[in-house]
Order: sequence, then structure tokens, then C-alpha cells
Amino acid sequence: MAEKNLPSIRTHKIKIRKPFSIEYKEKIVCPYCNNSEEFYEIIENATLFISYIQNPDGTLEPIEEEVEVLGPVKFFCGICNADLTKLRKKY
Ligand SMILES: [Zn+2]
Repeated sequence: MAEKNLPSIRTHKIKIRKPFSIEYKEKIVCPYCNNSEEFYEIIENATLFISYIQNPDGTLEPIEEEVEVLGPVKFFCGICNADLTKLRKKY
């Protein structure tokens, strides 16, 4: 009847997301060996602060860890060990 006067009534739509479509785009692939699964990172000049509580039996229990990174973080391919730091910074 008076549909044009009721803009608050909307049809309900369910959005279906396609799985993996976004994640796949963001994948890092090693340009040297095509590896896209195994990587490792080397942090240079990092200072690690660990706070301990001593238990009654004399053992130390870490309660807090704090990392201060002073140097560059380098990112490597886990298969051929190529330096992929620049590749990673794109994302
Ligand atoms: Zn590689």
C-alpha cells in the first residue's frame, strides 16, 4: 500500500563469503624456489626482559616477558634461505 513511505523496512540479505580468496592474494611466495609455506625470521639486537617469581622450592617461574627490538627484523625463506624482507614489507 504505502511502501514508499516506509524506507526503514529493508529486505534481509545474507552475505556469503568465499573462503580463502583474500588470504590467497596476500600469500608470500619465494621468487627463488616458489615456497609459500615455510619462513623464518631473524631479529637483530633484541633485548629480552624476563621477570621471575621464585617459588618456595627455589625454582624460578617467569611471569612476564618483554622484548625490545633495536635492530632490523629480517625475513627469510625456510627452504632456500633467501632474504625475503622486502617482499614481506609489501603486506
Ligand atoms: Zn625460497
